[in-house]
Amino acid sequence: MSSRPEILFPLFAEINSLRGVGPKVAKALSAIDVTRPRDLIFTLPHSTVDRRMRDTVKGARASQIVTVEAEIGRHWLPGKRGQPHRVDVVDSQTPFTLVFFRGDSKYLQELLPTGQRRILSGKIDIYDGRIQMAHPDYALPVGGAEEIPEFEPLYPLTAGVSQKVMRKAVDAALERAKELKEWIDPGQKAKAGWPDWREALARAHAPDGEGTAAQTARQRLAYDELMAHQLTLGLARLKMRRSRGRSSAGDGRLMKKALAALPFEPTAAQSRAMEEIKADMADERRMNRLLQGDVGSGKTLVAFDALLAAVEAGGQGALMAPTGLLARQHHAKLAPLAEAAGVAIEILTSQDRGAARRRKLEALKEGGVDMLLGTQAVFQDDVEFADLRLAVVDEQHRFGVQQRLELGRKGAGVDVLVMTATPIPRSMALAQFGDMDVSALNEKPPGRRPIKTAIIGMDSLEKVIARLREAIAQGRQAYWVCPLVEESEALKQFANAEARHAALRDALGAGAVGLVHGQMPVEERDAAMEAFRSGKTSVLVATTVIEVGMDVPSASIMVIENAERFGLAQLHQLRGRVGRASAESSCVLLCGQEAGKGGKRRLETIRGTEDGFVIAEEDLRTRGSGDLIGTAQSGLPKFRVADLIANGDLLDIAQSDARTLLHNDPDLESERGQAARILLWLMERDQAIRLIKVG
Ligand code: ADP
Ligand code: MG
Repeated sequence: MSSRPEILFPLFAEINSLRGVGPKVAKALSAIDVTRPRDLIFTLPHSTVDRRMRDTVKGARASQIVTVEAEIGRHWLPGKRGQPHRVDVVDSQTPFTLVFFRGDSKYLQELLPTGQRRILSGKIDIYDGRIQMAHPDYALPVGGAEEIPEFEPLYPLTAGVSQKVMRKAVDAALERAKELKEWIDPGQKAKAGWPDWREALARAHAPDGEGTAAQTARQRLAYDELMAHQLTLGLARLKMRRSRGRSSAGDGRLMKKALAALPFEPTAAQSRAMEEIKADMADERRMNRLLQGDVGSGKTLVAFDALLAAVEAGGQGALMAPTGLLARQHHAKLAPLAEAAGVAIEILTSQDRGAARRRKLEALKEGGVDMLLGTQAVFQDDVEFADLRLAVVDEQHRFGVQQRLELGRKGAGVDVLVMTATPIPRSMALAQFGDMDVSALNEKPPGRRPIKTAIIGMDSLEKVIARLREAIAQGRQAYWVCPLVEESEALKQFANAEARHAALRDALGAGAVGLVHGQMPVEERDAAMEAFRSGKTSVLVATTVIEVGMDVPSASIMVIENAERFGLAQLHQLRGRVGRASAESSCVLLCGQEAGKGGKRRLETIRGTEDGFVIAEEDLRTRGSGDLIGTAQSGLPKFRVADLIANGDLLDIAQSDARTLLHNDPDLESERGQAARILLWLMERDQAIRLIKVG
């Protein structure tokens, strides 16, 4: 299937090949990602205008569109420049005013002759207590009413494209959509009562498209999109499964030694995840697995166990963290355990250069290193492993399917384990990681107490600092998070980490307060972290560099300045930095005066629950999937019709349908398989198309 099916050619032609679409409109449309007729047919109306005739504008809401017959009265020509041209009119009951900010007065007088009757259709507003209609959409002689459609779909617009132009363009694009063979499972289609594809398009664009017929049609189109995406994930999964894997069966002897050096036992959830992962690694097929667990659920230990299994099996394991800071933290924590197990552990980041780096790479290639921790540097081109068997990606929910597939190329049939940083709603997980198997940590290590969360106004800053002074006198440790590093004119209202650092040093003692932020040299940052970890400093002022993964269990207070500026998932991550031991922990959300009602409400969500999944659902609900942290780079496609929130149930169905179809027909050769190929082309799932070609 090397080239696009012919039946789709007209839909993928240049957009200005459409009737009524010239270069100017084409350019304007490209601003909303519409560059082909195909994009237009999937740009559905967001609502419908009812232009049916009524007796009077009386009783209409502000901003409502109404159509009435009225008698034209006096014209009021603009006296001064900038004044509108106005026309008094009266319908069967009520006088109102037509207003024109643009347009030639002479022309308007001809268009609307005083004393005659006209059909007027346009948006009503109240101005100075008077009803007015600015720039009516239609002003036709009585008898011309047929020209006004009773219902009109309203499309999302962009500057330079009017509803009229958009409607014409969509109609022209729809003419190019030919009926396609059905890719939906017949049982599913019948059960849902979905129309054929072409019919679904027609109904979804129908002028009165708000009834159940249109809803059902939209549903089908949303399903198609999700199905194409799930097929892509499914094909990626198949490719992983089909590519030669190898069995890496550990015997647990190294983990046993490591556990002996650990002050605690794995939780039941950790043990279960460890078993699932090791069984998958022992299998001949390649592992492609997601480890999901809320902040603080102990994912690191699970990953370590898997890495040890790779070593036990005679190979190597690598773990990639998103930042050098985290890589170093992992190294600091895991090195003693590795030593207890007798395993050679090494760290590789962008800081390693020249001879030192060469030595590390050499050892890695010779097999002198069993376990490699690091940043993206770990998977750079010149890094060679003696026998890499497992690649773990920590906190990298920004990784797309393709990148995950590529992780494996550092060895023969490398198993892949991805750990998510943030709990993500089920629908998102399906959309993003639908190609993977999932292990979940649904339980936190024992003895954790709930984190007391308070929302406090910035005007009580002094009191918060006074309380903090008492707390550190009792030996407690605190993070203090500020949103920005440097003060700039425009962003003055933001807290400034450096200024806050200075102020807290004045208030609490110079030796007690450290500072980390992204702009600092790595050595300074490490030193500040280490001082905090070892208890030398009591307060660590930080930017969100500490958001992901930072683990200092003795810290029990989290203060977040201008908390309303952060996303919910981010706040959850930040709060998750405390409450990591059995001591009582607290989180103070300092809320700026400028935080609106919405901002406060979001903070209340955080105060109300510590359940990351609940928070993630709420985040998704209130902000929409497009804004969730990381989704922009997540490899999630941009859905035009489907909505991950509203269509969550369809996603489930699409995933299971896609998997069944691929199970029965992995090369998409059956009749339905062929139809599915056309769907993939239609939805521009290039990656899937490549996978079919190659596979
Ligand atoms: P996350 O899932 O957020 O990556 P970590 O792996 O950083 O969590 O673990 C959080 C904290 O819990 C760490 O300090 C870790 O040492 C501790 N921890 C992990 N597993 C257990 C356990 N089974 N019992 C007690 N503490 C644990
Ligand atoms: Mg972690």
